[in-house]
Amino acid sequence: MQEFLSRLQRPLQSIVVLTGAGVSAESGIPTFRASDGLWENHSIEDVATPGGFKQDPNLVHEFYNQRREALLSHGIGPNQAHSALARFQSIFEDQYPGNFTLVTQNVDNLHERAGSLNVLHMHGELLKSRCYQTGSIFNQQKPLNVDSVCRCCRSLGNLRPHIVWFGELPLEIPKIENSLTTCDLFIAIGTSGLVYPAAGFYEQAKKCGAHTVEINLATTTSNFDTQLSGYASDLVPRFFSQLASFLGLAT
Ligand code: NAD
Repeated sequence: MQEFLSRLQRPLQSIVVLTGAGVSAESGIPTFRASDGLWENHSIEDVATPGGFKQDPNLVHEFYNQRREALLSHGIGPNQAHSALARFQSIFEDQYPGNFTLVTQNVDNLHERAGSLNVLHMHGELLKSRCYQTGSIFNQQKPLNVDSVCRCCRSLGNLRPHIVWFGELPLEIPKIENSLTTCDLFIAIGTSGLVYPAAGFYEQAKKCGAHTVEINLATTTSNFDTQLSGYASDLVPRFFSQLASFLGLAT
């Protein structure tokens, strides 16, 4: 693993980390790419598109109610990969004159629960809802249904999960693009590289001169400079501990 350090071409000033469902898999949250192409036994069209919501809002609400309930259940919490990222961000920002950006495709809150700050949730957040009419965003822990009353417009049926569905524009793109153009080291963790635009971030970073690293259980077909395969809970703590030593950070 240390080999990647010798391949870093220029002094590190800016690090971008992109995480996907794989970083939360060992916390007990299933990933999205099941071999049958379904997400928790549902087709993507039914539960993760605006058309699916229009056709059967009850089904879609129920799907996200179950995901929300599972996320809030006792057995679920951050794993060692989330914790290592939060720890690294904290010491890097305290001790190093550089920028650290954590972008996640995940809609869970496990990065925050591990202590990460300013996480860019490009696909939304499970524990938030949004008003169709005003765009206002609310914390949402309780189940939603078609009779939920919106807190801003007081109407029935205006609240939807604050999730970016297929066919919708991801969130935080200007901030993400900006961090990619100045990035020296780009690390993708537990993402299949199949969902755009996130799948193209490593190429954008590479074009701007960044060294690109993938940490994944199974190596993807993407052309990263360094590919590390194994469990995130094992590789992420080791990777960031070595990076911290390389940068001279006291841990
Ligand atoms: P994905 O499910 O398409 O791919 C998961 C990737 O993680 C795979 O490449 C797999 O090899 C890897 N992986 C699985 N277990 C791992 C482990 N223990 N350590 C390291 N790597 C591991 O995920 P994606 O690329 O993030 O795209 C899925 C979309 O579905 C995202 O947009 C996300 O919003 C949504 N989603 C989110 C969650 C969540 O919030 N936790 C869970 C499922 C799906």
